[in-house]
Amino acid sequence: MATLEIHDLHVSVEVDNGTKEILRGVDLTVRQGETHAIMGPNGSGKSTLAYSLAGHPKYTITGGTVTLDGEDVLEMSVDERARAGVFLAMQYPVEVPGVSVSNFLRTSATAVRGEAPKLRTWVKEVKSAMEELQMDPSFAERSVNEGFSGGEKKRHEILQLELLKPKIAILDETDSGLDVDALRTVSAGVNRVRAGGEVGTLLITHYTRILRYIQPDFVHVFAQGRIAESGGAELADKLESEGYEAYVKGGALT
Ligand code: ADP
Ligand code: MG
Ligand code: MG
Repeated sequence: MATLEIHDLHVSVEVDNGTKEILRGVDLTVRQGETHAIMGPNGSGKSTLAYSLAGHPKYTITGGTVTLDGEDVLEMSVDERARAGVFLAMQYPVEVPGVSVSNFLRTSATAVRGEAPKLRTWVKEVKSAMEELQMDPSFAERSVNEGFSGGEKKRHEILQLELLKPKIAILDETDSGLDVDALRTVSAGVNRVRAGGEVGTLLITHYTRILRYIQPDFVHVFAQGRIAESGGAELADKLESEGYEAYVKGGALT
């Protein structure tokens, strides 16, 4: 059973007037089959955690460790992380002009699986995943992220999730900008993947809304670059009624 272990993670970025520490000692263990919600105010460092785990070059690890089944994730290239089974659905996915969704998915699947999926079963896999997500078949021929609506971007992320079957899935603000119907469809997709019991999910969100559809095993409150409190699903209810005020008493991140 795959386990992602984050220990005392410190991350900085370069800013105009020097270096800014954003993550200030994050400890978290995510096992396959578990869903962890990471919640917190804007600017608390949630996306930085996601990008750091995915290996984004902007973020410098200044301390701590991240391992997947004992293997040092921080030493891995972005591609190696994907092959090892770490998946990040980007909060603001980039456009890849001229590359169709269909080709993009097949290339990604080839990279992750280590061999090209057999064309015939692959076409079926994509078709059925797209149907489940209520996506029009013509979507497969569009250029990645070019002119995608918010909902289309999110569906595309979940489509990747369903096809790539990662061990650890990091979903950053998957709920942002979705209307209720789209939120239901996207959540159902995440739940189908979860139901397999093979994926450990890090569900990053500012709002508790998505947690009505995707029930977490653990809830962590992120504040000022670290986990300020952890609990079960009931912690989300508390946040819903009380907000984040208690965690940011010292003022916003500086
Ligand atoms: P969240 O996802 O919780 O809203 P972020 O991780 O996006 O928080 O940001 C945390 C803090 O780090 C913010 O103050 C943000 O401005 C800063 N930050 C994040 N990424 C960068 C970057 N690439 N360059 C400069 N500052 C950054
Ligand atoms: Mg933010
Ligand atoms: Mg964010």
